[in-house]
Amino acid sequence: MSVAASLAILGARVLALDDADHDWANADVVVEGGRIAAIGPDAARNWPRPLARTIDGRGLLAMPGLINAHFHSPGNLMKGSLPGYPLEIFMLHEVPPLASGGDASRLAYVRTMIGALEMLRRGITAVHDDAYHVPVANVEGIDAIMQAYADVGIRATVAIDQPNIVEYEKYPYLAELLPAEERRAMNAAPRQSTEELLVLYAHLIDRWHGAEGGRLAAAVSCSAPQRVTDDYFAGLSDLSKRHDLPFNIHILETKLQRVLGREKFGKSLVQHVHDLGFLDERMMVIHAIWIDDVDIRLLADARCTVAHNPVCNLRLGSGVMPYRALRDAGVPICLGTDEMNTDDSVNLWFVAKTAALLHTLASPDYATWPQPAEILHAATRGGARAMRREGRLGQLAVGGEADIALLDLDTVAFTPLNDLKRQLVHCEDGASVRATIVAGRVVYEHGRITTVDEAALRAEMRELMAAGRAQQQAAAREAARLEPYYRQMVMRAASEDVGMNRWLN
Ligand SMILES: [Zn+2]
Repeated sequence: MSVAASLAILGARVLALDDADHDWANADVVVEGGRIAAIGPDAARNWPRPLARTIDGRGLLAMPGLINAHFHSPGNLMKGSLPGYPLEIFMLHEVPPLASGGDASRLAYVRTMIGALEMLRRGITAVHDDAYHVPVANVEGIDAIMQAYADVGIRATVAIDQPNIVEYEKYPYLAELLPAEERRAMNAAPRQSTEELLVLYAHLIDRWHGAEGGRLAAAVSCSAPQRVTDDYFAGLSDLSKRHDLPFNIHILETKLQRVLGREKFGKSLVQHVHDLGFLDERMMVIHAIWIDDVDIRLLADARCTVAHNPVCNLRLGSGVMPYRALRDAGVPICLGTDEMNTDDSVNLWFVAKTAALLHTLASPDYATWPQPAEILHAATRGGARAMRREGRLGQLAVGGEADIALLDLDTVAFTPLNDLKRQLVHCEDGASVRATIVAGRVVYEHGRITTVDEAALRAEMRELMAAGRAQQQAAAREAARLEPYYRQMVMRAASEDVGMNRWLN
């Protein structure tokens, strides 16, 4: 692969979000070999070597690209497709439990592209993709996703999110609620063994971890502790430790999962993962809504990062994460859109604004409400930490990765300009982004993605969706058939007393 040529952004306002919280009214950013080589007033004038390209930064803001810390690219096909469902009903449509066949690799490639294009257009330079495969993972599907990220130019850390236990064992009550023939069908549905899945991980790591000059990386994922066998969970924990990979894990997203922990393990799912010895600083704990004070202490002591996805949580009615309690305990937070069928976009700006607003409901003491600086920090450095890139990503600093968003300050969002950080969180929606730079390479400018043919990809997406219509309709019928049993389960769990409430009622 080619190393990005040197470039400099001249005379921009520069919000570094670095340790010193630099906010220069007029400064240059010099990029060489994909990294930030110099930054500050006159940094380019004092640069000793010729620069391949300069960008006039007057009227622009240079800031670290946002990091979408939690995302599932396979949901990219389903934006706007589903009515309001709680997670457990939603998942009948997202990952049909009786699906057969496999991911077509071209579909996976184009599908991944559709999300990446939108992210780059909005100044999101990195994504942490917890990619699932329906019904089973294979090398072709993994390679298609990774190749799309390689081609489009975004920074991506990708896991294989593959539950491997029988569907009804992932839930409380469901085994007794389902008719015998549905249970039999679920028993017969394809599942992968620990060995099969670890072979796929070996491929992901050998082929893609560190590819494209380090822009692509591997992570591990168990989806959620209740969705995998104990030996696969142990194998993933070992891989994460051995290769220092982020570990994606959804914990206590819903009240039903709090009930499940009690019924299946006799304890909270955070406590369960802790007791297995797997809770550590590589873990990105996703959602963490129905957690109690003991769980928060365990997450803090283990130095986990928590991925907060407030738009997804509202879309699925999951409840409100105890944001301030986590922050006060010292737990780092990162922000994610989660997938397109629970956010209906990949607009992390909107996630940031929602995160800034939602937690005003938690306390009348406005001193506890999220501040713009901490939200921006979560949207950049928080995501970098969860990707095991702390200090090298999520800030503009010499030696760090040159992942930069250039925003036009002559837009409605910043006119008049009263408070830059507050307006980035509360006014900006990504429409001011004029250029996106990843690893020193300009991947979006003048309203166009520079690396691939967007219009052709969108057209192909429409064709592939039309060709798959019969399969989508069959999946919808199957979900409708199973929904009554899942609804009984969800409503029964909702009526349980779990000693806390994360809803408004
Ligand atoms: Zn998720």
